[in-house]
Amino acid sequence: MTDTKGKVVAVNGNMVSVEFDGKVSLNEVGYVKVGGQSLKGEVIRIRGNTAQMQIYEMTNGISTDCNVEFTGDLLSVEVGPGLLGQVYDGLQNPLPLLAEHSGYFLERGVYLSALDENTKWDFTPTAKEGDVVFAGDSVGTVPEGPFTHKIQVPYGFLGSYTVKKIAKAGSYKIHDTIATLVDEKGKSHNICMSFKWPVKRAVNCYAERLSPEEPMVTKVRLIDTFFPVAKGGTYCIPGPFGAGKTVLQHTTSRNADVDIVIVAACGERAGEVVETLKEFPELKDPRTGRSLMERTIIICNTSSMPVASREASVYTGVTLAEYYRQMGLNVLLLADSTSRWAQAMREMSGRLEEIPGEEAFPAYLESTIASFYERAGIVRLRDGNVGSVTIGGTVSPAGGNFEEPVTQATLKVVGAFHGLSRERSDARRYPSIDPLDSWSKYKSIISRNLVEYAREIYKRGAEVNQMMKVVGEEGTSLDDFILYLKSEFLDAVYMQQDSFDDVEGATGVDRQKYVFSKIISILGSSFKISEKEEARGFFNMLRQNFIDMNYKTFGSKDFYDAEKKIDGILAEKGASVDSDVKALLKDGE
Ligand code: ADP
Ligand code: MG
Repeated sequence: MTDTKGKVVAVNGNMVSVEFDGKVSLNEVGYVKVGGQSLKGEVIRIRGNTAQMQIYEMTNGISTDCNVEFTGDLLSVEVGPGLLGQVYDGLQNPLPLLAEHSGYFLERGVYLSALDENTKWDFTPTAKEGDVVFAGDSVGTVPEGPFTHKIQVPYGFLGSYTVKKIAKAGSYKIHDTIATLVDEKGKSHNICMSFKWPVKRAVNCYAERLSPEEPMVTKVRLIDTFFPVAKGGTYCIPGPFGAGKTVLQHTTSRNADVDIVIVAACGERAGEVVETLKEFPELKDPRTGRSLMERTIIICNTSSMPVASREASVYTGVTLAEYYRQMGLNVLLLADSTSRWAQAMREMSGRLEEIPGEEAFPAYLESTIASFYERAGIVRLRDGNVGSVTIGGTVSPAGGNFEEPVTQATLKVVGAFHGLSRERSDARRYPSIDPLDSWSKYKSIISRNLVEYAREIYKRGAEVNQMMKVVGEEGTSLDDFILYLKSEFLDAVYMQQDSFDDVEGATGVDRQKYVFSKIISILGSSFKISEKEEARGFFNMLRQNFIDMNYKTFGSKDFYDAEKKIDGILAEKGASVDSDVKALLKDGE
């Protein structure tokens, strides 16, 4: 605590105005004292000697005679071994412990340590006496679940430090001193295995930022082939209720080619958050067969918790992601839903009586969203290792209207857009990512020309389908009708994917390449077919057999048997691949 004294002079919902005597800085944390409780808040504006604070708790009971204490610290998280597997609220309180402490209704004003202070960790030093180190460099390691957790020099350490003393290999608690560092002026600093870092400050203790090019494979065909995400990239998923957001989040968490997944469930209905909390620990990690929680952190806030903590949870999430990136790991942050966070910003801005922008969102909405997504990135660390933070944010636009400010601001900054479509989820075509509206700026695992060819067929087939609704099947030519059947075939056997089957639900890169070529050759073939009924029967059979093949393990005898059967069906109709498609396929190899 600092010497600055404050007194509440006004309360407006979650915003409290405090008159202070002394020094207060922006984003400083303070506590409002009410009836024996200390309620945490953050200074969000200072005018003269009045500070406006957003309070991270219910504010009932706060009145104009309450005292306020200031900490001199910015809103921070504690980082160190023991973060993996935790479920936190936005202020990094471990939720299961909080529930134990206060029973069914979470008591306000209770703040618990984020990391267990008594757990012992097997420390192995990697730095030696005399080494010169900088912030973010590691001085030793401890095993944490499946990873080698690097114990780092705190990010706030400016300049170079010489290692004066380093602990011997052995078991230590997070707050035991494990090294003594001497700064450029000769002053000694003891460090332990954990430290605090302000959540709103991006961690930049790396050598250089790289450009996100390597794909973050999700094993969802529609994503990897058509709308890929890169490691260190960003993407946005607008998700109307029931569109399959949760299922997609689970499949991505399980299968994405990353080390660690951080889920920031922010402001969604309590029911959905409970769902996340119940289901996540039951998800199996396909790599280890053990619980996915071993490499997951969940941060959650429901819509019934104070709005300010929604903001805290997205920042807490990204800060923890940056911390693990600093160990050379690949981290995926799923923020669900950023719209709720934006609503919190709007509410607070209204209370501050700021000049409103579009739809009453604050004028800085866009820059705030942009600077959040900018914290994603792939970086080379000073030790030569590469780590990444990929951010996927959902937005929940009211009435599915993508023109609203939050979706628009997000679309300006992200590298890929996976627009979930109500029409597709109603038709139970999952994942319901819209093949026409979605886009990505990242590189696909499949050659661009092949993907473009497939998209073109899909688009033209969809147009024929629209036209048929007007003129009927009789009014459609056989060629157009076959085009339509081809686009439906592509959709049914490749774009749609059943997540609930271990084989079909996770299509690896090699398999996607193999199967996609096969599909292209079918899309690019002409057949000896003379009427629509015949065409329909043929494509039905083809589709059914292809789907059967999708459920067979890639490379197994069953897989090749199913493929042979498909080849037989194709031969029977005199399938012949057009020469330009043959050339495309050859180029794409
Ligand atoms: P949301 O979270 O957007 O409200 P859910 O993810 O809960 O929607 O999905 C709703 C339902 O849709 C699921 O219970 C499931 O039956 C079905 N579903 C969604 N995605 C898939 C998928 N890829 N494969 C099969 N069924 C799916
Ligand atoms: Mg859901």
